Amino acid sequence: MTIKSKDFDALVIGSGPNGLAAAITLAQAGRSVVVYEAEESIGGGARSAELTLPGFVHDICSCVHPMAAGSPFFRGLNLERFGLRWIFPEIALAHPFDDGDVAVIGNPFQQNLEQFGQDAKTIRGLLEGTVQSWPEISQEILHPPHIPNRPLKMAMFGWRAIQSARKIASRFQTKKARAVLAGMAAHSILPLAKPVTGGFGLILWATCYAVDWPFAGGGSQSLANALVALLESLGGEVVSGMRIRNLAQLPKARAVLCDITPRQLLAISGAKLAKSERRQLARYRYGPGSFKMDWALDAPIPWRSVDCRRAGTVHVGGTFEEIAESESAAWKGVPSERPFVLVAQPSLSDPSRAPAGKHTAWAYCHVPHGSNVDMRERIEAQIERFAPGFRERILARSAKFPRDLEAHNANLIGGDIGAGSVELGQFFLRPNRRLYSTSAPDVFLCSASTPPGPGVHGMCGHFAAKLALKKCF
Ligand SMILES: Cc1cc2nc3c(=O)[nH]c(=O)nc-3n(C[C@H](O)[C@H](O)[C@H](O)COP(=O)(O)OP(=O)(O)OC[C@H]3O[C@@H](n4cnc5c(N)ncnc54)[C@H](O)[C@@H]3O)c2cc1C
Repeated sequence: MTIKSKDFDALVIGSGPNGLAAAITLAQAGRSVVVYEAEESIGGGARSAELTLPGFVHDICSCVHPMAAGSPFFRGLNLERFGLRWIFPEIALAHPFDDGDVAVIGNPFQQNLEQFGQDAKTIRGLLEGTVQSWPEISQEILHPPHIPNRPLKMAMFGWRAIQSARKIASRFQTKKARAVLAGMAAHSILPLAKPVTGGFGLILWATCYAVDWPFAGGGSQSLANALVALLESLGGEVVSGMRIRNLAQLPKARAVLCDITPRQLLAISGAKLAKSERRQLARYRYGPGSFKMDWALDAPIPWRSVDCRRAGTVHVGGTFEEIAESESAAWKGVPSERPFVLVAQPSLSDPSRAPAGKHTAWAYCHVPHGSNVDMRERIEAQIERFAPGFRERILARSAKFPRDLEAHNANLIGGDIGAGSVELGQFFLRPNRRLYSTSAPDVFLCSASTPPGPGVHGMCGHFAAKLALKKCF
């Protein structure tokens, strides 16, 4: 079915943070633009809903926003004008251990490092540059591969960035430093012996100090809503409930930007792409899936550690070795018995998430691609391990298997929340050397399958739109 519409300069498929960032960039340049979104609700990975009980607002996908708050593009949009409020928890992150010890990550930077004893100096050396120069460094890190403005600093950083977390952790003496790095690096959804996991971990660790790890007040949906409000103020439009099944159904426009992953692009592009490119895109690799849980609670999670009760995010998985084992199992196709669980507690600092006195919690763990194994028991057992009595506080729970995540958002193929794995071959040149452009001169990819990759930061969409403006207008 061909879509009947007035003429637009540019069309965007998908209203995730990158689709909206692309549309805003085009609209800021004076181009008329419309976003077609398959689902009834807008925002892709930045949507919230009452998944458990009335009055409990849960983030269905993204919840913790160092990358959005630290995004050079979003920072310049002044989204507070459109209702966005960043809410900073008392402590960015806590990482508990079985012996009752806990690592606490948050400002002030220098003082925070003291807990790492003999590793403090090494950690300072690894993080200080990024922490102190985040506004400039983020322009380089959250950027397509290019010649950096500060080549020496970036060369040093780049050298570390491609190392594995295991290699970097071998420089640490303390279990605390090793475990914290493992928790950060596990966000890459790769086995921790793989290249780039170290860099991934160091960047995230540095953002705890440089940007903090905030929540969007009222839920991640408020970020998507603010982006849409800004877009509309610039004359752009969003049409929801409009799944694009073939590029041929789109009205005529000078550029089409696709906030989807390569497999979906192949499915809708018909003969528009060159054969060689189709073969290349078909080889794009997707990573493990995720199993997501949300809870409505009648009181906060009863962590044994007082510090965990003050933290926005808690990394639940114990030592470096345990976390490494869990990530490597998911990669090899075996769901971990004791998974590494990422827990967020937004209602501790944002009362609007739950009825008075009640709380929400958000968590996920990595599982094999497309896994059908029910991880509810294992995830809750891991939280109980550090918070005895957790289960007694649960009023209701929501669980999403990888297939449910994909049904919610077609980009989450097999439950892969990274829009394709970030292994070395797909880290810098993503999804291939063409990055945002394709063999069709008017078709661009703008999703997290392009640089700088996954996370809510909008930079993929922004750079894709800049390229489209250069090539098509
Ligand atoms: C469980 C989970 C937890 C996460 N946690 C975090 C976190 O805490 N912090 C963080 O920074 N990131 C997190 N992420 C990752 C983050 O959500 C993504 O990296 C980000 O949303 C990618 O943005 P995007 O615009 O590229 O794609 P998406 O946000 O995935 O948006 C793609 C959009 O395209 C639409 N679409 C797909 N196909 C079509 C079609 N044919 N026609 C029309 N529309 C279509 C989809 O419905 C969707 O709205 C998480 C993701 C998940 C799933």
